[in-house]
Amino acid sequence: MAGLAVESTKRALYYYGPSILTQQYWEDHKRDANGKLTPGWMDRLQAAPGPHKDKSKDPHAAGRALDIVLFARNPQEKDYADRIVQVFLSLKQKLKFISVVYNLWEWNGSGSKFPHIDEEHKTHIHIEWGQTGVGSSDFASDLEDALYQEFAGGNMRSGDYAAG
Ligand SMILES: [Zn+2]
Repeated sequence: MAGLAVESTKRALYYYGPSILTQQYWEDHKRDANGKLTPGWMDRLQAAPGPHKDKSKDPHAAGRALDIVLFARNPQEKDYADRIVQVFLSLKQKLKFISVVYNLWEWNGSGSKFPHIDEEHKTHIHIEWGQTGVGSSDFASDLEDALYQEFAGGNMRSGDYAAG
């Protein structure tokens, strides 16, 4: 079971983030319950350990992390991801995450940025809380407001809304 901070962030992104986060994507490395590789559609907001992860020492298994699947090789998805990271950083004092990782960079809880070189995080933002921080969702309304401010206009400019 994911912690409060993870669930609240997931909900805020689903309802107030870019609408692409409500859609599924094709995952080549999806595994079934028996660990067999069976590619298929997956949600973009993933709290559970994903197909690439070591379940025994993963913060996802402990309910302390959320993955937000936005491929850096797709310019539109990378733009959304960069803006979500900025929203997280702008609320770092309230969100109390211990790390955010995306596309070769990592930010710690105080917002300092340093290189994080791997292939895995070119496909998703990883946001992680510590044992204490994950138990709180005090930030929820601030995060929802910030995402709404950032993406309500952006979605319209991108033509996500049906005309009329
Ligand atoms: Zn992750």
